Amino acid sequence: MARHEHGDMMPTTPVRRTAWPASSSRPVGTPLQPSVVYAAESPDRLDDLYEGRDRGYSYAREAHPNAEVLATKIDALEGASGGFVVGSGMAAVTAALMGLLEDGDHLIGADQLYGRSLRMLGTELPRLGIATSLADPTDVAAMEAAIRPETKMILIEVVSNPTLRVADLDGIAALCKRHGILLAVDNTFTTPRAIRPFEHGADIVIHSVTKLLAGHSDATLGYVVARDPELNARMLGFAVTLGLTASPFDCWLAERGVYSFELRYDRAEENARALADHLHGLPGMERVVYPGRTDHPDHNRIDALLGTRTGNMVTFEIAGGREAANRLVRAAQNIAFAPTLGDIGTTLSHPATSSHRALTPEGRAALGLSEGSFRVSVGVEPAELLCAEFEAAVRAAAGG
Ligand SMILES: *Cc1c(COP(=O)(O)O)cnc(C)c1O
Repeated sequence: MARHEHGDMMPTTPVRRTAWPASSSRPVGTPLQPSVVYAAESPDRLDDLYEGRDRGYSYAREAHPNAEVLATKIDALEGASGGFVVGSGMAAVTAALMGLLEDGDHLIGADQLYGRSLRMLGTELPRLGIATSLADPTDVAAMEAAIRPETKMILIEVVSNPTLRVADLDGIAALCKRHGILLAVDNTFTTPRAIRPFEHGADIVIHSVTKLLAGHSDATLGYVVARDPELNARMLGFAVTLGLTASPFDCWLAERGVYSFELRYDRAEENARALADHLHGLPGMERVVYPGRTDHPDHNRIDALLGTRTGNMVTFEIAGGREAANRLVRAAQNIAFAPTLGDIGTTLSHPATSSHRALTPEGRAALGLSEGSFRVSVGVEPAELLCAEFEAAVRAAAGG
């Protein structure tokens, strides 16, 4: 075998690219391909590439192998095909909403969407002539009441942040079918391990890959797919034109995370169930919300929709206001106090000073959030360790 795959010429100057060494064995790990441009063999072959008669790459903003490898893995998890990866979860929301909606259309969003999605609905879409309104996704009648003749899409998350209310996905999907409205589901919290929205009638599935799928808080990425190939092509064209492209390195890191996604998810979910039960009844504990508990307000729907796949997120509320909250975070030294979710390790967030700081105390109270409310994204540590650390922190907060 020739020493160099692309001819065995040695470079005449270091400016010229050196050929990649030939190898009769293949790498087991996915190669990282950061090249922005791809050289074609001839104008004829380039023509074939652009016309889809040949497979290959030309320019990384359009497509690159690391994004494709990652997208194919998430497609398989979602039971989808043709999904694509973009530079963040918000870029995925952008591709779905701005890529498919037109001036004059109306969009209904769930009233407890991710903060930046709410900002897009509240500010950016109306600025471009797309009207929006919000409705409670646990109440199909409220959703139906928000429908207008020009309503084109409904965007929901299955489990809300941080109140962990569970949307009536099947009810809303039936409503969308009846009215000819597209249903977009942001499946970041629930992941395809808990639910595959296409199996429940969704038309579009969105992910912040940054969270559970990648799982190591070192890559910011999104994924989006439409069931209808025509809509999918429209979103992809929009994303490429707007430059929502993901970096090969981030895709490579995220793909590495996805290998262990199912294991991590299962372990984190088991831990979340144990932690929720352990927190319940500790001193100063006012409320524990976990979709796997029978005292959850949407318990009946959860059984049918998620079964035992009730996720890794736990929300709880302690007595004693901000002072007790400060004591709890200071006492929980080993738990990262950081407003993210889905990391391999447990993280703790305080909605009143982070995700929900823009709301008034009354606005937060309406959602059931106070200065004592915390959201835990449970990781894969040993459950006994987690329970012991949280118990010590909760007791320190209560002991003031
Ligand atoms: C984090 C998140 C997003 C945004 O994802 P980024 O990767 O941070 O842009 C969207 N939706 C939900 C539900 C999220 O949790």
